[in-house]
Amino acid sequence: MRWSRRQFLAVPPGWLAGCAARRAAIAPPIAPVSPSARLARVRVAPERVTRTIVGLRPFRPSGFVVRGEKLDDKTVIHNYGHGGAGITLSWGTAQLAVVEAAKVEARECAVIGCGVVGLSTARLLQQRGYNLTIYAKAMPPDTTSNVAGGLWDPVTVYDHTRVTPEFHRQFGEAGRFAFRRYQSMAGETYGVRWLPYYSLSRDSAVSPAPPESPYSQIQPLYPDAKQLTRDENPFDVPYAYRRYSMLIEPAIYLDALMRDFYVAGGRIAVREFAEARELMSLRESLIFNCTGLGARTLFHDDELIPIRGQLSFLLPQPEVDYMTSGPGDIYMFPRRDGILLGGTHERGESRLEADPAAEQRILRENAALFAGMR
Ligand SMILES: Cc1cc2nc3c(=O)[nH]c(=O)nc-3n(C[C@H](O)[C@H](O)[C@H](O)COP(=O)(O)OP(=O)(O)OC[C@H]3O[C@@H](n4cnc5c(N)ncnc54)[C@H](O)[C@@H]3O)c2cc1C
Repeated sequence: MRWSRRQFLAVPPGWLAGCAARRAAIAPPIAPVSPSARLARVRVAPERVTRTIVGLRPFRPSGFVVRGEKLDDKTVIHNYGHGGAGITLSWGTAQLAVVEAAKVEARECAVIGCGVVGLSTARLLQQRGYNLTIYAKAMPPDTTSNVAGGLWDPVTVYDHTRVTPEFHRQFGEAGRFAFRRYQSMAGETYGVRWLPYYSLSRDSAVSPAPPESPYSQIQPLYPDAKQLTRDENPFDVPYAYRRYSMLIEPAIYLDALMRDFYVAGGRIAVREFAEARELMSLRESLIFNCTGLGARTLFHDDELIPIRGQLSFLLPQPEVDYMTSGPGDIYMFPRRDGILLGGTHERGESRLEADPAAEQRILRENAALFAGMR
């Protein structure tokens, strides 16, 4: 089973009813507010669409890979397979990779890949005193990381039934580290800001993820999280759970990381590696593999598969200052470069052409959601 943005929070209604009753007994009554006065309506219409794009999430059912291995006289540290949360987890898995690197002597290193994972790994290494070059086939704006929506939320990262205790630990560590790191980057420079984030469902309310779920370590991080009462819920959907998270604007953010990397003396070389053997020709003996979906071919990782995602953008609406996810597969993030509407999750699908039928569905379902707001 894949834990999607909606599923990880969905629990049987009976379970929630128990939790709600317990909360009601201890929590003071909350004065009804009228959020409809504060939430601007998104104007969804085909003539407002500016572009539709497609990207492939690098997904592994057992989760991302961060580990070291010897390849002849080189040490390769893998850091790939972040699924639908590469922006979210990037600093966290970079930190795990840097800890792994401390086991070897080298101070000169190569990072393969210039998406969000390669850039964050490179920046952390620079901050720890390493000298490095990034080698990559493509750079921003031509990476999957530029296609990402940019919500901070580590979902679509693993299949619940496939995770190991070691992954559970790494996921928690990476999530906590990344969440703290992004908070220190909030502001215009990095294009990071806090927004209310509404998870919407027709079927069930939100409740704590069970302890065996890696996500149980993430849920408590979100400040001011609550299931909205009927009076507080401005959407025409029975269940609305509101918390606060960060929206990271990929175009601004990746440019800022590139700038920081260059300012700190980093070098970037455009180069494609057809197979892992070619890495042996590099002068650096310490190599970080941050190739995203590219690791499937480069390191023959057959577990790594694409999950295709399609997004449509509408003209910007600066007055929209909240994010939504659900009901169903849809989501909305109010980015500076336009109102982003998602989405699709097609496992094993690698077509990069936009699908007009999917676009129509995304527009129709989002239009119905915002038309129904109080
Ligand atoms: C529609 C959509 C929405 C998303 N929304 C979010 C979101 O809201 N929040 C979030 O956190 N994540 C989101 N994601 C997921 C996120 O985009 C990915 O997890 C992330 O981009 C992976 O980053 P990466 O650096 O590993 O890979 P990439 O960005 O793909 O970078 C890989 C790099 O490796 C290089 N490379 C690959 N193979 C080779 C090779 N053989 N030789 C040389 N270089 C090579 C590439 O050229 C590139 O530079 C979304 C993804 C999609 C598709």
